[in-house]
Amino acid sequence: MLSDHFTVNLIYDKKSMKSSFWNSGIVLLFILLPAGVSAQQLTPQWEELTASDWERALSASDSTCILPLGILEKHGPHAPMGSDLIVARRLALEAAGREYAVVFPPFYFGQVHEAKHLGGTFSLSSDLLWELLKETVDEIARNGFNKIVLVNGHGGNNYLLPYFVQSQLEEDKNYVTYLYSTERSPEQTEKVNALRKSDPSRDMHAGEGETSLLLHLRPDLVKLDEATRESGADQDRLDLPESLYTGIWWYARFPLHYAGKAEVATAELGKLMFDYRVKSLVKALGDVKNDHTTRIIQQEYFNKVEEPSPQGH
Ligand SMILES: [Zn+2]
Repeated sequence: MLSDHFTVNLIYDKKSMKSSFWNSGIVLLFILLPAGVSAQQLTPQWEELTASDWERALSASDSTCILPLGILEKHGPHAPMGSDLIVARRLALEAAGREYAVVFPPFYFGQVHEAKHLGGTFSLSSDLLWELLKETVDEIARNGFNKIVLVNGHGGNNYLLPYFVQSQLEEDKNYVTYLYSTERSPEQTEKVNALRKSDPSRDMHAGEGETSLLLHLRPDLVKLDEATRESGADQDRLDLPESLYTGIWWYARFPLHYAGKAEVATAELGKLMFDYRVKSLVKALGDVKNDHTTRIIQQEYFNKVEEPSPQGH
C-alpha cells in the first residue's frame, strides 16, 4: 500500500488564477518561484535525487538532512523486524514533504545488545556502531548539510543517541546535530488514551501503540492473528529498587521482546498517533531551519577550546 515515494508538490494559489493570462502555468512559474527553482517535483529522498537537483535540494532544505534511525529486531510474533525504521522513515518523509528536508537512506544500525538472543536481530559491536554513526553524520555534512536531524524510531537507541549528540562537542565541527523527540502534549495524550484499550505503562514494544502505527502505515505486514501466540506481559523478574540500573532490566522483564497487548491495536489509533508525530516533526524542522544561533555558539565554543583560559574568554 505504501511506498517510500514522497514528493514535494508546489501549490498554486487558486485565487490568483482568475484570468486566462494568469492561467498560463509558465507565467505563474516565473512569478511565484524563486530563481533557480522549477515547478518540477523535488523528492526528499537522497537516493532519488539527481545531480542536477542536488543544489536545489540543498537550498530548499536550508542544508538540513534528516537521518531516520531504526533497527532489525523481533517485534512480538506479529510485526515486522524493521518496524522501527518503517515508522521513522515514513514520519521523516511525510514531514519532509511539508517542510522540505533531505532524508537519508534506510539506516538499520543502532544499539540493540538486549535482543541478540532472538533471531532477526542485527547488532553491530559498540565500536563499529559508534564509528558508523560518526562517519555517517560527517559524510552527510561533507556533502553540504550543516544541520542534521536524528529522528529515532528505536527504543534501544535512547541510551546511545543523547551521548552521541553530546559527543559532537568532542572536536570542531562546522555542522550541528540535533536529536529530535516528539513534542509532549497532554491534549494528545488524552486523545490517545481515550482510544487505547491496554495499559499505557505496559505498552512498550510491539504492543498496542506500535502495532497500531504499523496497522495504519503498513497493514500488509502485520499478522495480528499471531499476536496472542506469545505473551507480552511484564515478567518483572528483577528484585532491584528504581535507584539501581542494570543493562539486563529489559530482558528480565520482557525476554520475548514483546511488551504490551498487540491484539487490541487499531489503524484508527495508529493514525491518531502518526498524524500528531508528523505535525510535531514539521514544526521541529521549521525550528531547525530557522535556527541561526546554535552553530555560531558551537563555533564560539570550539574556538575557545583551541585556546583554553581559566576565565573562559
Ligand atoms: Zn519497535
